[in-house]
Amino acid sequence: MSTDRTIDTASATGWLREFARIIGENAQYLTDLDAAVGDADHGINMDRGMKAVIAALDDAAPADLPALFKKVGMTLVSSVGGASGPLYGTLFLRMAPAFGADAADPAEFAKALRAGVDGVVARGRAEAGDKTMFDALAPALDAFDGALAAGKDLASALTDASAAAEKGRDGTESMVARKGRASYLGQRSVGHIDPGATSSAMLIAAAATAFGASG
Ligand code: ADP
Ligand code: MG
Repeated sequence: MSTDRTIDTASATGWLREFARIIGENAQYLTDLDAAVGDADHGINMDRGMKAVIAALDDAAPADLPALFKKVGMTLVSSVGGASGPLYGTLFLRMAPAFGADAADPAEFAKALRAGVDGVVARGRAEAGDKTMFDALAPALDAFDGALAAGKDLASALTDASAAAEKGRDGTESMVARKGRASYLGQRSVGHIDPGATSSAMLIAAAATAFGASG
C-alpha cells in the first residue's frame, strides 16, 4: 500500500478551488434542476457562494486547516441567502474543529467530513430518503470509511466515495421530497434529481480530483 498523501491547507484549498470551478461550470444546470422542484436559484446560490469563498481565500491565505474551513463556512453563511448557504456553511464550519494545526491523514479527513455532514443533519433535520444533499453525502461517507478500512489509499477511497455520491444523487430522482422547498410539491417532486444532492456529488468529485491528482 502506498503512503497516503497528507491533507494540508494547500491541497484542501485546491479541493475548494476545484469545487468552485465545477460549480461555476454547472451553475446553469444546477439552477435548471432547482427550477423543476424549487425556485430556480441553486446554481446561482452556490456559484455566488463559492466565488466569494475563492475571493476570501485569495485575499488572505488561512494558516491552517481549522482556519481555512472556518473561513469557508463563514463566507458561505454570509454570502448565500438560500437554504444551501447555511447548510453548506455548517458543513465546513463543523469540519473546522475536527482538524488540528498539522496536516491531516485520510482517516482524520473522513472524520472531519462526517462531523460536517452531522452538522448538516443537526441544522436541516434531513433523514435518508428525504431527497436532499444528505442522500448524496451519507453514502459517500460510508463508502469513504469502508474503502479506508479496506486499506485503500486516499485517491482510490475518494474515487469510491465519489461513485457512491453519484449513485445517491441519482437515487433522489425517485424520492418524494420531505425537506426544503421541494417538499411543497409532494408527489410532484418525483422524477426530478435533487439539486443539492447534485452539488454535493460535485463536492466529493472535486475531492477525488484534487486529492487524487497525483496520489
Ligand atoms: P432554497 O431551497 O432556499 O432555494 P437552494 O435552492 O440553494 O436553497 O438549495 C436547495 C437544496 O438544499 C435542496 O436541493 C436540498 O438538497 C437542500 N436542502 C434544503 N433543505 C434541506 C434540509 N432541511 N436538509 C438538507 N438539505 C436541504
Ligand atoms: Mg432554490
